[in-house]
Amino acid sequence: MPVEVPKIGSRIRVTTMYPNTYAYRGKDENYVTYVREGVVVKSVFNEPFSFALRTGDPQYPVSEYSAKSQHLVRIEYIHGSADILDDSRKAWKIKSKDKVYLVVREGGKHTCTCKGFQFRRDCRHIGMVK
Ligand SMILES: [Zn+2]
Repeated sequence: MPVEVPKIGSRIRVTTMYPNTYAYRGKDENYVTYVREGVVVKSVFNEPFSFALRTGDPQYPVSEYSAKSQHLVRIEYIHGSADILDDSRKAWKIKSKDKVYLVVREGGKHTCTCKGFQFRRDCRHIGMVK
């Protein structure tokens, strides 16, 4: 399924909804809604579906999101746009001499379990599956 991930530099408004853990006491609604607006910046999580929002709010200066989160209900674009990523996951076992490495493609990005990939973020095993 394609997943919409806002591009860095876009200005967006994000709406998230979480179950209200106090609702069983008869207080308020069953869900709590948060709306945050800001500029998309690089997430601290090195994952294809993560993004962060710099809000300018001193209490929550940066909010982290996953574009695949069930809690994320809406993204509105004030300016900017999104990358549409394929969230299908595919994996290959690559034999190399006496070792076996695992190459995984997720969100259009490849990772490998070999040492070369840890240092260079690329390796010949990834080259073999591309
Ligand atoms: Zn590799």
